[in-house]
Amino acid sequence: MAPESPHSLPVPVQSSPGAMWLKSNSLQTMAAHLPSISQMQSTQCSQLFLLLQLLILTAVSRGDVNRLVLDQLNQVGLVNLIEQATRPNVPRDLSTYDFIVIGAGAAGCSLAARLSENPQLSVALIEAGGVENIAHLTPVVAGYLQQTSSNWGYRSVPQKLSCHGMNNNECALPRGKILGGTSSINYMIYNRGNRRDFDAWAAAGNPGWSYDEVLPYFLRSEHAQLQGLEQSPYHNHSGPLSVEYVRFRSQLVDAFVEASVESGLPRTDYNGESQLGVSYVQATTLNGRRHSAYSAYIKPVRDLRANLQIFTFSRVTRILIDEATKSAYGVEFHYKNKAYTFKARKEVILSAGTFNSPQLLMLSGIGPEDNLKAIGVPLIKALPVGKRMFDHMCHFGPTFVTNTTGQTTFTSRVTPAEVISYLLAGNPATRLSSIGGVEALAFLKTQRSSLPRDWPDVELIMVTGSLASDEGTGLKLGANFRDEIYDKMYRELAQAQQDHFTLLVMQFHPQSVGRLWLKDRNPLGWPKIDPKYFVAEEDVEYLLDGIKASLRIMQMPAMQRIGARLLKRTVPGCEGHQFATDDYWRCSIRTLSYTLHHQVATCRMGAESDPTTVVNHQLKVHGVRKLRVVDTSIIPFPPTAHTNAAAFMIGEKAADMIRFDWELI
Ligand SMILES: Cc1cc2nc3c(=O)[nH]c(=O)nc-3n(C[C@H](O)[C@H](O)[C@H](O)COP(=O)(O)OP(=O)(O)OC[C@H]3O[C@@H](n4cnc5c(N)ncnc54)[C@H](O)[C@@H]3O)c2cc1C
Repeated sequence: MAPESPHSLPVPVQSSPGAMWLKSNSLQTMAAHLPSISQMQSTQCSQLFLLLQLLILTAVSRGDVNRLVLDQLNQVGLVNLIEQATRPNVPRDLSTYDFIVIGAGAAGCSLAARLSENPQLSVALIEAGGVENIAHLTPVVAGYLQQTSSNWGYRSVPQKLSCHGMNNNECALPRGKILGGTSSINYMIYNRGNRRDFDAWAAAGNPGWSYDEVLPYFLRSEHAQLQGLEQSPYHNHSGPLSVEYVRFRSQLVDAFVEASVESGLPRTDYNGESQLGVSYVQATTLNGRRHSAYSAYIKPVRDLRANLQIFTFSRVTRILIDEATKSAYGVEFHYKNKAYTFKARKEVILSAGTFNSPQLLMLSGIGPEDNLKAIGVPLIKALPVGKRMFDHMCHFGPTFVTNTTGQTTFTSRVTPAEVISYLLAGNPATRLSSIGGVEALAFLKTQRSSLPRDWPDVELIMVTGSLASDEGTGLKLGANFRDEIYDKMYRELAQAQQDHFTLLVMQFHPQSVGRLWLKDRNPLGWPKIDPKYFVAEEDVEYLLDGIKASLRIMQMPAMQRIGARLLKRTVPGCEGHQFATDDYWRCSIRTLSYTLHHQVATCRMGAESDPTTVVNHQLKVHGVRKLRVVDTSIIPFPPTAHTNAAAFMIGEKAADMIRFDWELI
């Protein structure tokens, strides 16, 4: 069996001098060295234990040792040290559970948490990755997490028409490999989608998935703490997942929101009645810390539910399916290089995410007949697994420089005082709570679109920074940008610490359709992923319209007051075009192509009679018993949204469907 790809191996940590935690530019080190505490080198361990000793001493001097120690560890995001020591998670071969959930991502965690509310049911949640730590919890370092072993680290096959600015034209396709899944490494934007998205799902043969029918599940998951929206019927205040406005705000975002309004966009709650307009970003954070699927759904109940068993560092390699009855009855997985089998009394539920769920189906004999034949996997059920994949491609820009100072989120600007205030005093309003610099979203309608007028087709994502924010040490590497892009466009901004911001332009409803397949039957290998970005030329034109809209916003008085002007740096590879002409931007779009990682439809939901679909509206795999897929891979069309909120909704709704089917409610 071939070894895992180097991208998914633990990142080696480098030793660093003593007061690492309090150094002003220590954030990069902090993020990079925390793939798993157990993988740390001795110098770092001793620094951490020094910190721990301090915390414990503080606790002891105040009495009530255990609770305070735990609280303190929680406060600094290091409770995982204790978790790993006290929960060995060693599986016992041939254990049997009512439900086996594969993958502890956004959908898997919410599903497992809801199913295990019933103490009569036993639930096994099997996750390939480990436990979150301080780096995952600290929103400003989100970009660095893609360089850790918490990321599966996939890459696309080289793209002909996009990602020209990436090494070997390969777009980076990160995915979370950790309890919490991609919700533990994402950018924390909370965004549900348009009423028309879900009504279209229902109309495509999926009864029960219209907007009115899914809204209760979005609400069930949400614990909104959004000032001004306390009375909104579109928000709930009692669910597990915290949603709040980012407390740290720059002057740049205030100017952007004002300028957007001046340009004619209304202020809106993009998760409310109408998406069109501009808003400060709503985030899945709690008091300025990341609130992942794990933190929100599993951590609070883990010690209280003996019927919920969680297995980390356990990689499922196959779903066991009885060929005669076509019924799933268990899973095979690897834990510490040993193979185990678990059996399911009721169902196996695949929540391994948009790349790994289709991979596991195919490894288990469910997929396109030709692909399975080519790799030598006996066919159990021919289905179009991975045949379709939609994504939201962006243009990484335009970038604007301003006359302000100290407003751009340069990670090296984080001061020791801010680190102390955030980590030890729990202050949610420091720069560390900035979700990777994302501060506002604007939802736009272009002239080009033939969709109804209340269905946006382009989004502007306002980021107070660029590749310069981390001096090329985080985002550039995570996204696989070529050095030349950073050197020629952004290095000078970083060196001068020049204030600037970037408007990422994203298209919601692309016509380009990608696909995913297996090149061999190695369960530890990578699926091949060809997103085929910009195969449909019109997708480029939508992004061009979005760029023009952002240039119009820059003309508004609020932007002029901060001296906002286009960064005049020609994109490498686009020198043949006159700067800022339409053709220049088209070249730029194909070069600075940056996906926001919203891949969907690889296990598409729809009626069995629809030859493009894999699961039905109850998320049951067509023609196979006791097997469902519950994650973003089932989403049938590219949504007018980022996809994390929908993953929680899918998990919540699936829990109700499963309980109903088994007469558990
Ligand atoms: C870098 C990045 C930034 C993003 N930012 C945002 C954002 O700001 N807002 C937003 O709405 N969306 C964002 N997204 C997308 C969003 O986070 C995901 O669509 C969503 O979290 C996916 O949820 P899921 O439950 O479908 O799968 P995942 O959360 O990916 O969960 C799948 C889980 O299954 C596990 N797994 C996979 N294979 C196996 C196996 N063989 N054995 C055991 N376990 C396995 C994985 O390790 C993982 O934990 C972002 C995505 C990325 C990559």
